[in-house]
Amino acid sequence: MERITWDQYFMAQSHLLALRSTCTRLAVGATIVRDKRIIAGGYNGSIAGGAHCIDEGCYVIDNHCVRTIHAEMNAIIQCAKFGVPTEGAEIYVTHFPCLHCCKAIIQSGIRAVYYAQDYKNHPYALELFEQANILVKHVPFDRETLLLLQK
Ligand SMILES: [Zn+2]
Ligand SMILES: [Zn+2]
Repeated sequence: MERITWDQYFMAQSHLLALRSTCTRLAVGATIVRDKRIIAGGYNGSIAGGAHCIDEGCYVIDNHCVRTIHAEMNAIIQCAKFGVPTEGAEIYVTHFPCLHCCKAIIQSGIRAVYYAQDYKNHPYALELFEQANILVKHVPFDRETLLLLQK
């Protein structure tokens, strides 16, 4: 049995989480990791108990669906809810974070962002990450990783 890398393992988790997304526009997953342990995860979806985009349609304002909380935010909020420090942690995301999530990631003390796919990579987000000295690395997800489960 082939042993997968940590990067592919955490990226697989984020892609699994994305399958739980309730927004029809984009399915995103995020995994927060500290010392090679998963401490939180999230996907883009409505607030708990709220109406889902997949049932009621997206609530679009200025070309953005405002119904959902982004995956990165959900993961960070999960840490806040349960009192788990994010200082010095790392985050694995299926898509490059939006500006709002970029700022939340920096402010939470997360030190590294690994993303599988480019997504409207905002130059200001890149600038903020650089200013905050955050490692930003493109880690393409190897879908073959999942096929190892069948072996
Ligand atoms: Zn939506
Ligand atoms: Zn976002």
